[in-house]
Amino acid sequence: MSTVELGKFSIGVGDRFAHQAKAQLQACILAEQAGVEVIPVWNKSNREHNFIGSEPASTRAAADAAVKALHWTKPYFCDADHINLTTVDRYLASCDFYTIDVADSIGKPASADSIDAFVKGHSHLIGTLRLEGIDEAIEITPELLRRTAEKFLFAVEEAGNVYRKIEDAKGQGSFIPEISMDETDAAQTPAELLIILAAIAAEGVPIQTIAPKFTGRFNKGVDYAGDVAQFRREIQLDVAAIAWAVRNLGLPANLKLSVHSGSDKFSIYAAIHEAARQSGVHLKTAGTTWLEEIIGLAESGGDGLALAKEIYTEAYAHREELCGPYATVIDINPAKLPAPGTVAAWTSPQYTSALRHDPHSPRYNSSFRQLLHVGFKIAARMGCRYLELLEANEAVIAKNVTENLFDRHIAPVFLGRPAPAAFLEHAEAK
Ligand SMILES: [Zn+2]
Repeated sequence: MSTVELGKFSIGVGDRFAHQAKAQLQACILAEQAGVEVIPVWNKSNREHNFIGSEPASTRAAADAAVKALHWTKPYFCDADHINLTTVDRYLASCDFYTIDVADSIGKPASADSIDAFVKGHSHLIGTLRLEGIDEAIEITPELLRRTAEKFLFAVEEAGNVYRKIEDAKGQGSFIPEISMDETDAAQTPAELLIILAAIAAEGVPIQTIAPKFTGRFNKGVDYAGDVAQFRREIQLDVAAIAWAVRNLGLPANLKLSVHSGSDKFSIYAAIHEAARQSGVHLKTAGTTWLEEIIGLAESGGDGLALAKEIYTEAYAHREELCGPYATVIDINPAKLPAPGTVAAWTSPQYTSALRHDPHSPRYNSSFRQLLHVGFKIAARMGCRYLELLEANEAVIAKNVTENLFDRHIAPVFLGRPAPAAFLEHAEAK
């Protein structure tokens, strides 16, 4: 039986209101024209479906329709994003990519018997592992092996339970499994990642992507905050650890990293590109297409601009409630948030230049952007009024969605072109 395989380069795109699949796919077509295959994966988490009141079937329908309309003949996938044993059922019919989220199980201990068995069965990992293509080695002590098993083995067993539930329902090899550990407090070191991969292989989960938590902050929709040099070292070691695991542990040959909350991380795109050239990468963008919808509405003027202002006014009034669930992935400076009365007087260019993630622009306001990013619930509550304006202004919105994905994400990560932040550093250096 053949197994569905995820290509070397893939991009996870979120589409909260299921209206931009065509504009998103257009960005992959531009990549194809530039000579690189980038496989689209439409992802929407259980949390987002609940907030918006949508069902996974709507994401599938939008993806299928876009693929048909634009005559896309390469693979594409729908990702049940951040699911677990209790939430997976609703995705079994519509999805063929599963991000199995076991972050909540990290730190819960497996049985003493399984920890002992794992440690005993993996004593060959102890020592200094020389990795191909990299100067640094990974050092695994007996203590580290046991400690990592104590921290992660239960989570991996849990992932096995979720995986087998999906496999029972859909059939072996008919979907892409990913394990994600990004929504947790501490980053996993490359040595821990290697031990985790050994546990995943032993559990028999044929993952094609894995999402560790990296060091630094991956705030939603804004640039990376952290030590770029350290990130570069870490991702190189992670890639080497994955290559080792593929060769020695029998994991799928196309196994690669999945970078979550990967949109707008301009300052690390060069490092991700270097890693991706060797081993591929799945870049998951964090639902920022919705911000391009507001930019498009604001750019349209008239009713569109008025609605974009109304969304900000509402988001500002409810900012604490909106930010609460995202506290660990946003950094808003309240002093930088313009008063709704000020925004009410803005022209289209004033609004769009504050919101659009253009680090060159002196008017770009990352606090304004982050508040609107978490404000999609306001638009969801507006229902038809919002969706009708999306449809009325489709052309200008689509242009923003495609340009954002291609110019600011696909081009720097998959084609190796400089990211906007790199331009900025260059400009500052002059
Ligand atoms: Zn994630």
